Amino acid sequence: MNEVRSTCGYCGVGCGVLIQTDGAAIRGVKGDPSHPANFGRLCGKGLLLREASFSNRALFPLVGGVRRSWAETLDFLAGKFAKTLSQHGPDSVAFYVSGQLLTEDYYVFNKLAKGLIGTNNIDTNSRLCMASASAGYKQSLGADAPPACYEDLDHADCLFIAGSNTAWAHPVLFRRVEDAKARRPEIKIVVVDPRRTETARFADSHLAIAPGTDVALFNGMLHVILWEGLADHAWIGAHTEGFEAVRDLVREYTPKAVAASCGIHENEVIETARLFARSRATLSLYCQGLNQSASGTAKNTALINLHLATGQIGKPGAGPFSLTGQPNAMGGREVGGMANLLPGHRDLSSEKDRSEIAKLWGVNQLSAKPGKTAVEMFKAVHSGEIRIVWIVCTNPAQSLPEQKLVREALERAELVIVQEACAATETTAYAHVLLPAAGWGEKEGTVTNSERRISRVRAAVPPPGEARPDWGIAVAFARTLERHLRPEAKTLFPYENPETIFNEHREATRGRDLDITGLSYRLLEERGPQQWPYPENTSMGKARLYEDGVFPTPGGRARFVPAPYRPVAENADARYPLRLTTGRLRDQWHAMSRTGNVAALFAHAPEPRLALHPSDLERAGLAEGSLARVRSRRGDLYVPVEPDAGLKPGVAFLPMHWGARFLGGSDARGVNGLTLPALDPESKQPELKHCAVRVERAELAWRLVAFGRAPDADALELFERLDPFMREFAFASRALAGEGVLFRAAAREPPSAALLVRIDRAFGLGAADALRYDDATRAIGRRIALAGDAIRAVRLSGDTRSERWLQDYWKRGAAVQGVRRYLAMPLAAPPGADIRSARTVCVCLSVDEESILSAIRDGASTLPCLQSRLRCGTECGSCIPELRGLLAARQDAA
Ligand code: SF4
Repeated sequence: MNEVRSTCGYCGVGCGVLIQTDGAAIRGVKGDPSHPANFGRLCGKGLLLREASFSNRALFPLVGGVRRSWAETLDFLAGKFAKTLSQHGPDSVAFYVSGQLLTEDYYVFNKLAKGLIGTNNIDTNSRLCMASASAGYKQSLGADAPPACYEDLDHADCLFIAGSNTAWAHPVLFRRVEDAKARRPEIKIVVVDPRRTETARFADSHLAIAPGTDVALFNGMLHVILWEGLADHAWIGAHTEGFEAVRDLVREYTPKAVAASCGIHENEVIETARLFARSRATLSLYCQGLNQSASGTAKNTALINLHLATGQIGKPGAGPFSLTGQPNAMGGREVGGMANLLPGHRDLSSEKDRSEIAKLWGVNQLSAKPGKTAVEMFKAVHSGEIRIVWIVCTNPAQSLPEQKLVREALERAELVIVQEACAATETTAYAHVLLPAAGWGEKEGTVTNSERRISRVRAAVPPPGEARPDWGIAVAFARTLERHLRPEAKTLFPYENPETIFNEHREATRGRDLDITGLSYRLLEERGPQQWPYPENTSMGKARLYEDGVFPTPGGRARFVPAPYRPVAENADARYPLRLTTGRLRDQWHAMSRTGNVAALFAHAPEPRLALHPSDLERAGLAEGSLARVRSRRGDLYVPVEPDAGLKPGVAFLPMHWGARFLGGSDARGVNGLTLPALDPESKQPELKHCAVRVERAELAWRLVAFGRAPDADALELFERLDPFMREFAFASRALAGEGVLFRAAAREPPSAALLVRIDRAFGLGAADALRYDDATRAIGRRIALAGDAIRAVRLSGDTRSERWLQDYWKRGAAVQGVRRYLAMPLAAPPGADIRSARTVCVCLSVDEESILSAIRDGASTLPCLQSRLRCGTECGSCIPELRGLLAARQDAA
C-alpha cells in the first residue's frame, strides 16, 4: 500500500490528504498531518472522498449517446467549432468551467477561449461563489488577495463571522475556531446571520439580521465607531484614501435606523461596533451570505471599510478574510479564468494587460470585448447568440438561478458539450457530447486555498475507462482545432504535462501582486504547500499581506468605498410573503454529484426539507413532515417541511443542494427553480441567497413511499433505476439510505396500476413471495419483501402510516418474527414493536440523536463526557457543534 499526498477536492479550506492506494484502486483516505491547512484533520466529506469518487463515472466519449473514440470525438468537435466560428464569429461559442478544476486545467481552457478562439466567453461557477469577494478586494485594497491566513485565528481577539455557517461549510477551519476559543475563552465571537446556525450557536453573540441587510449593519457599525471616536485616524490618514465620502455616507446610518432595517436591537449594533473597534485584533470571516447577493460587492466593501477605519488589517489576527467556497476558486482567479479577467490578476479591460498576455501566449492580440458572465452566458445561449456551450466539471442545470431559462437554453443550444467525471448529473442529461474526465485522486496539478496557499494535487490511480485529465482534453482539442484555424503555425499548446502549464502560468504572475516566480513543482515537492506571493529569490511566501500598510493601488493606499444600503432584489409582498434563503448542509457538497453517491452522507439530513419558523408552519396549516408547495415568481416545487425555531418568522430555508435528481416531480427544477437571477452590478454574481416565496399545503392527497434494497442491483444502480419515476408524479424524492434507497412520491390522484408495478419491479417487489395487500377501492397498496427474517424492501401506497416502524426495522435489519402478523396492517406501530432508529448526528461513528439524548438524560452533561460514553464527535468532529447544541438545549430545559 502506497500513500500519495494530495488535497481534498471539496471546499476552500484545502485540507491535505494522504491517499492510500495499491496502485489500481484507492483503498483509503486520511488527513495529512503535515499539511498546514488541516494538520491531519478532515471533515466527514473529506474522510469519505474515496467512496464518493468511484461511482457514477463517465467512462467513454459519447456523441449523441453513442460511444466514440477520442480521435473521432475531437475531430467532430473541432469541425463543428471551425464551422460555427467561420459562420458566426468567435463569440458564438462559450465555455462554462469550474472552481473544482485544477489551476493547470483552468489555464489551458482560458488560453483556448481567449488566445486561440478569440472569445472572452469563458466564465466559471466561481461567479456564483466568490465574484463579489474578488470585486470587493479589488475595489478596496487594489488586488484580489485575501490578506489574512488561518494562523490569524490563533491571534484574533474578536472573530466577526458574517454570512458564513463556518461550522458546516468549512468544518476543519471551524475546529481551529473551537480550539482558539478553548485556549483563550476571552476571545469574542460574533456571528451575523439571519439563521441561528451551528456557528451562531457557538458564538458569544448572534445578530440575526433580516436577510440582505448586511450593508446597513456594517454602515451602522461604522457610524458608531466614528461617533464614539473609536476610529484609528492616524492609520486612516497614513494608509487610506476616500475616507470623507464614506464618513458622510454613514452619517445617516444611526443605530436606531439600522436596527429597524436589520430587525435587531440598536444596542446590538452599538456593542458589536465597540467590540470590533476596541479589540486588539479583529478578524472577519465571511462567505456566501455576503457574496451571493445583488449587493454582494457593496457588502464586501462596507465590511472592509470597517477594517480600514479601525486599522484592523495587516497585523496578526486582523483583516477581512473571505472563505473560499470551492477548492480552487482562487486558482481560477489567479489564471484569469473568468469573463472579465486575464492571467496573473490582470483585467481584460486594460489594453496593457491584454497586450502582455498576447505576448506571453504568442498571439497578435486579445479581444477587448467583455465575455458573458455565468448568468449572462446562459441567457445568450437561450437567445441563440451563443450556439455552442462547453461545460466543464460543473452542473448549471442544478446550480444556476432561474432553472427554467437555463434548461430551455440547454435544449435550444446547437451543441452542448459536457466534460465530466460523473455520468449522471442534471446537466449531463442535456449533453450532445459527453467527455469523460479524470476525477479526484486521478489527476495532477495544483490548487490554491482560501489563505493563498498553493498545494499539489496528485494522482494515486489512473482514471477509469477512457477518462482523461481536464487539461489533457483541452490541449488535445486545442491542437485539433488549430489544424482548422492556424494550420501552418506552431501550436500554442505545447504542454506535455501539468508542470509545463504551471511554469507558463507562473511566468504570467511575474511582478504582479500574486507573483509566484519563486515557486516550482520541485519546491512544492520538497517544502510542501506554499502561500503566495512567493517571488523569485525569496525563501518563503507571505502569510499576511499589507503589514507595511502599502496597498497595490496606484497611490499605495487602501480605498474607502462608499456602499449605500440597497434592499434585496426581490422583497416579500402580499403574494409572496416569505423570504427564502439557501445554504449548505453539513455533509453534502454543492449539487451532490459526488457526495450524493455516498449513503453515509445522507444520514445527517436524509431527505430534502424546507425549514420554517414554527409560527409560519402553523399559519400555513402545516405540521412537521407535511408536504408543502413552495412558489416563487419563477417556478414552484413540492417539499416536506420542518420547524426551525432558529429562523425568524417570515424567513424560510432550503438547502442549496437539492436539485431535480433528488427533489423531483413532474415540473421539478430543484431549489434553483425558485431563485432569481438578479445580479450584483459589479461582480455579476446572482442573488442566490434570497427570493420571495409563498408556502402552502400541497393538495396531493395520494402518497407513496418505497424503500429497501433490490436483489439484483446495488444501491446506486437502484437509485438510477428510479430515474424515470422522478417525473411521473407531482412530487418525488429519492435518496440513498443505508444499503438501499428511499423513494417518496405524491400525486393528486392515484397513478395507474402499471406504474406501481414498474416501481415494484425496480425494488424487486414483484416476486410472488412478496407480501401483498391491495384495496383497489381505496387505492391502497402494500408490498413487503423479506430476506430471511428481515425486511428487504417495502412499498406503501395510499396509506403510508406504517412507514416509520417498517423503515426502522429495515434499516436495522431487525428480525420481524415478533411482529410478522402486523406487516399487512396499516398501523403506525404494532404493539411491542421496538422502534429505535433516529437521525444520525455523528456519521463517522454512527451515533444517532436518540442515543445522545438518552446519554444526556443519564447524566452526560459535558462534551468530553458524551464523547467518552458514545465516542460521538471523536473522529472528524463535524458533529461537535450539534453535540454542544443538544447539551445546551438540555441545560436550558433543566
Ligand atoms: Fe475537504 Fe472538509 Fe477539509 Fe473542506 S474542511 S477541504 S471538505 S476535508
